[in-house]
Amino acid sequence: MALSECPKCAIHIIRHPDWKEGMVVECPECGAKLVVSSLEPLELEEAQE
Ligand SMILES: [Zn+2]
Repeated sequence: MALSECPKCAIHIIRHPDWKEGMVVECPECGAKLVVSSLEPLELEEAQE
């Protein structure tokens, strides 16, 4: 499943082909920094500042 939810605003986020485990990505909706904790299935965690 290449789809996950933003832990902050709960929108669905589709995995970008360039994403790698451990990368920090930005939620397109709320701008939260999210860590890609797993790629398959896609899991996103809120990044710690
Ligand atoms: Zn969000």
